[in-house]
Amino acid sequence: MIEDILRTLSLTGEQSGAGNGSWLTCTGEVMESVSPIDGQTIGRVRSASREDCESVSAAALRAFDTWKMVPAPKRGEIVRQIGNAFRAYKKELGALVSLEMGKIRAEGEGEVQEMIDMADFAVGQSRMLYGLTMHSERPGHRMYEQWHPIGPVGVITAFNFPVAVWSWNAMIALAAGDTVIWKPSSKVPLCAIATMNIVWKVLRENGLPEGILSLVVGKHETVGEALISDPRIPLISATGSVRMGRHIGQTVKERLGKTLLELGGNNAIIVTPSANLQLAVRAILFGAVGTAGQRCTTTRRLIVHQSIYPALVEALLKAYSHVRIGDPLEESTLMGPLIDREAVESMQTALKHAQDEGGRILYGGEILSGGLFDTGTYVTPCICEAGPDLSIVKEETFAPILYLIRYDTIEEAIQYHNAVPQGLSSAIFTNNLKEAEVFLSHRGSDCGIANVNVGTSGAEIGGAFGGEKDTGGGREAGSDAWKAYMRRQTCTINWSDDLPPAQGIRFKTT
Ligand code: NAD
Repeated sequence: MIEDILRTLSLTGEQSGAGNGSWLTCTGEVMESVSPIDGQTIGRVRSASREDCESVSAAALRAFDTWKMVPAPKRGEIVRQIGNAFRAYKKELGALVSLEMGKIRAEGEGEVQEMIDMADFAVGQSRMLYGLTMHSERPGHRMYEQWHPIGPVGVITAFNFPVAVWSWNAMIALAAGDTVIWKPSSKVPLCAIATMNIVWKVLRENGLPEGILSLVVGKHETVGEALISDPRIPLISATGSVRMGRHIGQTVKERLGKTLLELGGNNAIIVTPSANLQLAVRAILFGAVGTAGQRCTTTRRLIVHQSIYPALVEALLKAYSHVRIGDPLEESTLMGPLIDREAVESMQTALKHAQDEGGRILYGGEILSGGLFDTGTYVTPCICEAGPDLSIVKEETFAPILYLIRYDTIEEAIQYHNAVPQGLSSAIFTNNLKEAEVFLSHRGSDCGIANVNVGTSGAEIGGAFGGEKDTGGGREAGSDAWKAYMRRQTCTINWSDDLPPAQGIRFKTT
């Protein structure tokens, strides 16, 4: 079955880790793609060297000259065809995401659906790259602003969304007239290579030049640094940890480039006395256990009113006991493995830290063993009772740990909620209108995403996605996120026979 998937996605034999429409003969070291499901190697990739990165960047720059001159709605037509190509490979690409990253099949296919949705969205956007017009203070003058393509865009992605995050960036960037160089996580290179095989076919069929969509796979010390320090790449969009974001932010700012940063989250749900607990438990389970706690929007903290705390804990313990852990390719599985043993170790370290500080494990947290579980990558999801001030609660541990915190007043709940460095996603479960409105007001959640009676994870592509504080401030996907991928130009046209300066300034020799 695995062989069928790899064959359909043209992934047989050793893969090249760099290409710009066709694959280069790379000269870097060979990297293995190991499935967290059973520890088996599913492919080998020859990584890109600095010289390979240079070829790719040069091609992306050349292609930009052609692509930016294609009218935006015609660029949209190419994006439409790319979306259809994703439709054709949804099953296989979704299965590869499961194989290489370890998320359950439904979520793997969900990622590809997100790529399709992004393509559809970008097709429409290609006809809506709107600028404003302004009334000039000078007689006989007209002012307006317009948006131009910005250049080649570097897109750096995290392991946990091996294909969808690239599409949030790439589909909009294509509609905007940019070319895209992708550096995926070295933990999931095959997903990126398969994606390129799908999209290059569309570009070739349309007689478009190489370099519109490119890929560089390799160590971040080599390919990542080459990308972020390249002054020919005006925008770097990076998704990953806060540590990575700080480094990339500083490096790109140093050369006065632009960044779009999508970094870690530490997302909480507040559950109030009036909440529908059944609804809340379903949302918490999906948010905390889905993708084995490896989503940037994973629910990591639960802030619960004292009065309903015992009932909610009881319901959660029951729900957690029914979570089927195992092979993510099997339909009945709800939680697959963590990405690698390192991630399991971080989870164990965090739990020890929590307990040392007075936290109490109410459920799970064990490493599983026996059969498939001997990979050491499977754990039971954990519920840990904690105080709001535990230092570990303020960190993002990329694993299924849910910290429970009690509160008395809504003001106290919001204070606990906002007392972490990250600011990505947030939610409140309540049927009390005032509490909901306070939470959504500027006195409430300080996150980029704030939901009422909807959990923290599973955002739709139509809204702008991203967060505040250590999450980096970037916005991707829907709404007006497209503006980040274009440069703004303010234009003034004088259709009179005079030259009146603005602000009434007199500047005449006679
Ligand atoms: P990571 O920071 O280890 O790596 C992310 C990407 O950055 C990888 O491609 C990596 O190779 C690259 N990278 C790391 N250092 C670099 C450098 N110095 N120069 C250039 N590239 C560099 O993150 P990860 O473990 O792959 O992913 C998990 C993290 O990503 C979590 O913190 C999660 O919250 C975050 N994430 C955020 C979002 C979001 O939209 N906010 C989405 C998904 C994941």
